[in-house]
Amino acid sequence: MMRKSSLVRRPLSLARRSSPIPSGADILTHAGEGFGEECMASLDRRGFLQAASVPCLAACSGALMGLPQATPLFANPPASPAAEDDSQYIREAKFYEKLPYKKTKCKLCPRECVIDDQERGYCGVRENRGGTYHTLVHSRVVTAHIDPIEKKPFFHLLPGAIAFSLATAGCNVNCKMCQNWDISQVRPEQVRSSYAPPEKVAALAKQNNCPVIAYTYSEPVVFLEYVLDCAQAGRAAGVRSAVVSGGYIQAEPLKKLCGQVDAIKIDLKAYSEKFYKDVVNGELKPVLEAILTIRKAGVWNEIVYLVVPTLNDGDAEFQGLARWVKSEVGPDVPLHFSRFHPEYLLKNLPPTPIETLERAKAIADAEGLHYVYIGNVPGHPAESTYCPHCRNKVVDRTGYTINGVYLHHGKCQFCHTAIPGVWT
Ligand code: SF4
Repeated sequence: MMRKSSLVRRPLSLARRSSPIPSGADILTHAGEGFGEECMASLDRRGFLQAASVPCLAACSGALMGLPQATPLFANPPASPAAEDDSQYIREAKFYEKLPYKKTKCKLCPRECVIDDQERGYCGVRENRGGTYHTLVHSRVVTAHIDPIEKKPFFHLLPGAIAFSLATAGCNVNCKMCQNWDISQVRPEQVRSSYAPPEKVAALAKQNNCPVIAYTYSEPVVFLEYVLDCAQAGRAAGVRSAVVSGGYIQAEPLKKLCGQVDAIKIDLKAYSEKFYKDVVNGELKPVLEAILTIRKAGVWNEIVYLVVPTLNDGDAEFQGLARWVKSEVGPDVPLHFSRFHPEYLLKNLPPTPIETLERAKAIADAEGLHYVYIGNVPGHPAESTYCPHCRNKVVDRTGYTINGVYLHHGKCQFCHTAIPGVWT
């Protein structure tokens, strides 16, 4: 278990930002045009964060990538986050305990933060108010796109489908290679949000012909209450739900999640506790347990392993991972070895050599896994799905494009071997 926390330990991420976002000091100077020195001195933490907030990459500009221009996703985002009424985003949290002296203990992820009144947990999106614990991000969407399901990636879930994909701010780990750090490593007040209640999300997914809502980009574990409500609204509207997560979650909330969603992709960051400690600020063991819980629940699961040069790319690690997957989860779970690109705090490392990814795949194939993919290398033959019995290509992919699906009722068209997945 991680060390228990009674205070928020995550540093505000403003100082890590590069241009054009100013440092905290610059923000206060700039904000001083309106605030004046006295007023600045009286800013409480929430006020400071609102003053310091910045527009999110896409959601608030109205230019939601991939969405038809005529279909604004969430109308009229506030002119500035400071103008937001955040009461609409706040709900009592699930999965926590009340402790003496108005403290609360969060039971959502293995970190088990112990929170004093008026403080937040490590993820920055859950707050103790008077001894009652709250989520601050219900219906508080910071980015939304319509993406190919292959981008998540899910390769055995409705190939060629588009997914209505959304995120709130926040994350319960701090991966040094995070690609979405500008929304995952911030607090809700630091990015502009749009109000998107679950029924609206389900309706927009339907309107845009998305058979799936995907909870992705940041970490759905920290906005679990919203995921559960969106998934329920989605089911009522005939829209499935798929979660893209690091899997750092306790068993009870995960079981609840499994009861509501149709697929969960786990980003397994490495097969070593050292990597989790040094690079992720998390733990491996609870993530492996989460994969087993998902399997027991019968929810469709795929595993992605981002191969980071020099940090998690050893043969022994690939072999240990493949053996664990085969013996504990079975050979049919898809395992994706994805290419790393220099990002966030690991810009000093090169992209993963393609030979390393091919070596990882060869090791996992030799261990007997049936569906081992290479990701983030568009055009590589290992993007496609092959029947493990006759070796014919049953889903032909190039990047996010599906060139052909050669399945009939979930079976290989050539030899009739069942290919596991959600195909219709
Ligand atoms: S979900 Fe957030 S508040 Fe809860 S234990 Fe994890 S990091 Fe702490």
